[in-house]
Amino acid sequence: MNLIFLGPPGAGKGTQASMLSVALKIPQISTGDILRSAVRAGTTMGVRAKSFMDSGSLVPDEVVVGIVAERLQDDDCTKGFILDGFPRTVAQADALSEVLAGLGKQIEHVISITVDDEELLSRISGRRMCAKCGKGYHLQFDPPKVPGVCDNCGSNLYQRDDDKVETMRKRLDEYYLKTAPLIDYYSAKNMLRTISGIGAIEEIQQNILKGIEGS
Ligand code: AMP
Repeated sequence: MNLIFLGPPGAGKGTQASMLSVALKIPQISTGDILRSAVRAGTTMGVRAKSFMDSGSLVPDEVVVGIVAERLQDDDCTKGFILDGFPRTVAQADALSEVLAGLGKQIEHVISITVDDEELLSRISGRRMCAKCGKGYHLQFDPPKVPGVCDNCGSNLYQRDDDKVETMRKRLDEYYLKTAPLIDYYSAKNMLRTISGIGAIEEIQQNILKGIEGS
């Protein structure tokens, strides 16, 4: 099954996509994670992307389209994939259709996770990430066993620059301006499944499963 997860930053796309990836045994492709790895590794792409990411802006379309076009050709995508955080603009969505047509594939469902702004801002301010392995935590909902230390690798946790309140507001502005139009775009193609992102993580996952199975 080929899926897209759509939603504002902090809606829980990453958490839900990761759970669904395990349940359906298909890879989660997060452009945010791929870009952060490139920044950590100091690649040319990472250096180019960093200033956009730190300021809460979107990375240029051609950079992310190139990443996804390459990733979708990997062997683990043959049985399906979950795109998490891509597409984020109409131009990316058009480019994705072209790439998929070239591969003889198409998207089956677009899962749109909805959460109001006030809740998003409070969720994001509690997010922390491991500086070494990239594992994510939340001070309130998913805290590490030892405060400030990664359960996986023992490295220090930090707050992403783009999770700070001022940058978060910019990311939300970018979302409403450039990404939210994709809701109508996919709705017009009858591909949209809207799921509330408020509630217990497990319950939201069940609603997503029902949304893709029952349609
Ligand atoms: P995320 O972890 O998905 O919230 O992404 C973090 C940041 O990476 C975003 O604020 C953007 O700067 C960049 N990014 C991730 N995915 C995309 C995309 N599809 N298009 C443009 N920029 C992206």
